[in-house]
Amino acid sequence: MSTEPTPDLAATSRRLTRLRRVPTNLLAELVRRDGACAQGSPAEPPHGLTERDHAAHLCAGCPVADPCLELELRSASPDVVGVWGGLTEDDIRHLHRAWSTQDPDDSQGERR
Ligand code: SF4
Repeated sequence: MSTEPTPDLAATSRRLTRLRRVPTNLLAELVRRDGACAQGSPAEPPHGLTERDHAAHLCAGCPVADPCLELELRSASPDVVGVWGGLTEDDIRHLHRAWSTQDPDDSQGERR
């Protein structure tokens, strides 16, 4: 059983609206430069973690988790592969649905 709570993907989608107008190349540079995974491999996660716990472990404390997620949503989703922004593939696919209908000018709610 996961120890990580189910992420509030609607809230994550709303939070990402602040990055909507950031150019993709700038997001990529931020993630390349400051991503925790770019600083070296994280410690090997303990065996027996759920997918969600594994994702949280890999991205724990990453200062650019939101730019990483925004970049992934722009580029690969819904065909996402792997862990990005501390979320699992399934979480990112679900997030993509909310993100793709989110009004970029509305950080309070989704497009009506
Ligand atoms: S959020 Fe995770 S995958 Fe993305 S840059 Fe940070 S450590 Fe890497």
